[in-house]
Amino acid sequence: MSVPRLNLYDFTREQLRGQLVRWELNPVHVARLWNYLYIELAASLDAMPELPPKLRARLAAETRLGVLPTALETASSDGFTHKYLLALSDAEKIETVLMRFTGRVTACVSSQVGCAMGCVFCATGQMGYTRHLTPGEIVAQAVHVARTLKLSAPVGPTVGRAPAGSETDRRAVLRPGLHPQRLRNIVLMGMGEPLHNYDAVMTAIDILRDETGLALGAERITLSTVGVVPGILRLAQEMRPLHLAVSLHAATQAERATLVPAAKKWPLDELMAACRTYSETTGRRIFYEWTLIEGKNDSEAHARAVGELLRGLDAQVNLIPLNPTDGYAGAPTRSAAAKAFQHVLATEFKIPSTVRQRRGIDIAAGCGQLAVAESAG
Ligand code: SF4
Repeated sequence: MSVPRLNLYDFTREQLRGQLVRWELNPVHVARLWNYLYIELAASLDAMPELPPKLRARLAAETRLGVLPTALETASSDGFTHKYLLALSDAEKIETVLMRFTGRVTACVSSQVGCAMGCVFCATGQMGYTRHLTPGEIVAQAVHVARTLKLSAPVGPTVGRAPAGSETDRRAVLRPGLHPQRLRNIVLMGMGEPLHNYDAVMTAIDILRDETGLALGAERITLSTVGVVPGILRLAQEMRPLHLAVSLHAATQAERATLVPAAKKWPLDELMAACRTYSETTGRRIFYEWTLIEGKNDSEAHARAVGELLRGLDAQVNLIPLNPTDGYAGAPTRSAAAKAFQHVLATEFKIPSTVRQRRGIDIAAGCGQLAVAESAG
């Protein structure tokens, strides 16, 4: 039976250095290899011409570059959101989203194929759990977005400055609306529950943060959890420098359990105790996410309940009007009710909140909508 090839994106720089030592090669070459992987964003070994022959031979024989081919790319009608259906080596597929907000580019990456948490309004939860992603499969999504940005049109949607048919012109046509920018923000809010795949996610974050590579700052990485209590406590214990977002959606155990089945395993009081421990240990604010569902959890009474729940905590509430999915009949809260919800939090509890900009809804790339759709819909 053949030995599976090593995925180069699975390695931290230190691990790659160790691999070179095991191959009895000079570990100094790790710098050039890392540069090819994460600065030049090479898509194949052929695009790494200046590697020493012995290293190149080893790489060719024993490794693979885990670039994820695009099975489908869709762009929202406003051009600000691009969704990529990416193929894994075992023929499973995941979705990754590139979002452009004013002045920043964010990649929303997946951590699992499907998800075991089963949140009722989430398309990923509705498809069930298939498997964890490896660190390299998480990293490869960020690399995919970074490479897309690198290859994007130099002047955004203004097509035609370059000679017709030239490489620059071709890229502009392929990627209208994208400016050449560096990827600076990652949100682990795609398919899957990141804290259910803790070790792989943390290794991936270490790779993404490496200062000689993609160099994503800790303050630019946000991990969103539905409330995996042991994972939150481990994050606190390890003092992991990242932003933590906790999906609440309800302020009582009974209401929350109807939306988030994982609440039966990790009840609300245990979750809030873990959040308190996290904030006290790390000194970091937690972002609490609240999907606003019309008539379900969007009244001023609900706002007061969450205000009471978060009293005394360093908290910000992110309100997300429900994004539609086939498997859930709820409707998004209207703008006036969302504003009233915010008003209660601000005036009665001094809790800051935001209403998330709805992006990519027309291509099912919004929060809770990712589910490996094979057509552009
Ligand atoms: S909302 Fe997140 S945790 Fe819940 S089912 Fe969807 S992907 Fe999983």
